[in-house]
Amino acid sequence: MQYHPVPSRTIKVAALRCEFCDSTTENAFLRHQLAMTQAQLRVTFLFCALFYLCFALSDLLWVGYQMKTWLLVGARLAVAATVLACLALLKRRPDSIPATRLVANIVEVTGAAGFLLIAALRPTEFSLHAISMSIVVIVLYIYIPNRLLYAATTAALATAIFVALAWWLGHLPNIELATIAALLALTNLFGYVAARRYQILWREEYSAQMVLKNLSLRDPLTGCYNRRHLHERLLETEISRAQRYRLSLTVIMCDLDHFKAVNDTYGHNGGDAVLQHFAALLQSMTRESVDSVVRYGGEEFLLILPETDLGGGTLLAERLRQGLAAAPVEHDGRCIAITASFGVASVDFATSTHDAHVNMIAAADNLLYAAKNSGRNRVCAQQLV
Ligand code: GH3
Ligand code: MG
Ligand code: MG
Repeated sequence: MQYHPVPSRTIKVAALRCEFCDSTTENAFLRHQLAMTQAQLRVTFLFCALFYLCFALSDLLWVGYQMKTWLLVGARLAVAATVLACLALLKRRPDSIPATRLVANIVEVTGAAGFLLIAALRPTEFSLHAISMSIVVIVLYIYIPNRLLYAATTAALATAIFVALAWWLGHLPNIELATIAALLALTNLFGYVAARRYQILWREEYSAQMVLKNLSLRDPLTGCYNRRHLHERLLETEISRAQRYRLSLTVIMCDLDHFKAVNDTYGHNGGDAVLQHFAALLQSMTRESVDSVVRYGGEEFLLILPETDLGGGTLLAERLRQGLAAAPVEHDGRCIAITASFGVASVDFATSTHDAHVNMIAAADNLLYAAKNSGRNRVCAQQLV
């Protein structure tokens, strides 16, 4: 039986794209960050809208009052309107990661395109535009939280188009154009490095938090949930869910038979190996992410089985009993034969009118001791009403 220890190391982040290698972890991280990401987007979006609108004044000063001015103001208004529409979408879909990603991408692309159009309409000021382009690059990399891959693509593409425009419009001497291209390439490089640091730092912090959380919820020897987690959260959550949807809930208390004799005969390490073997058996024969396996005491484990009636719970306990009895534990080249006794208590919240669930664990414990008293290596079960 494979023993799964509690994860105690931080989780791997891919070097280039700076995301967790495991997509489930990455999604959990994005959800964890969602509120902060949206708050950052809101501030940056408002700032961008203001930035684009305020600089309409410079259009008037540099270009004067002519047809082109309206084109410039139109471009600025289009960017500001897109930003406001994206803010409205964020407000409507505060729980959606894809919607958050979408608005970040829309604002990045529209902002960069709007800026390039404005620069092209004021072709004699490309030295000044280069300063604005640097700001745009920094905002794309750092101030709009997005996938690094998307931010880097938009920033690099916008920079390349900007340099091509400057060359094509032909108002800059070649040496100045080359210098601007080199400086913008450097801005992109610094932007990428800074964004990469942020992305990795956030994920390292999240990863450390998850490791600590996991350690506080689980027993280090077996990897099962500990009793604190059972009483602080697990039991209450499952009982309320079963109550609300009027479902069945079953708990199984199991205890290894004559475990003290295992320690006495094979030493404490032999005892530990048996505990790990039993925990792995319990975890492998129950439903992942649905059932919970708790180390309740020394060699006593509690299973919480949502949406399971008495028949299902008893069947599982019988399978576990047979599985353990049929496969002796190998330790230091010796085989340790071990059995366990089981107490199964079930409540059907569709029919139960009393507070039967209040003493569910105590009931399962009593049934376990009934199994012990009637000879061990057996299952005792009862429907609580
Ligand atoms: P019964 O069949 O009545 O359950 O008898 P038992 O010997 O299994 O029960 P008892 O309560 O007398 O002994 C439990 C033993 O479990 C005593 C204790 O030293 C041992 N134990 C508790 N925690 C651990 C642990 O983490 N590792 C090891 N190796 N032994 C443990
Ligand atoms: Mg025991
Ligand atoms: Mg015991």
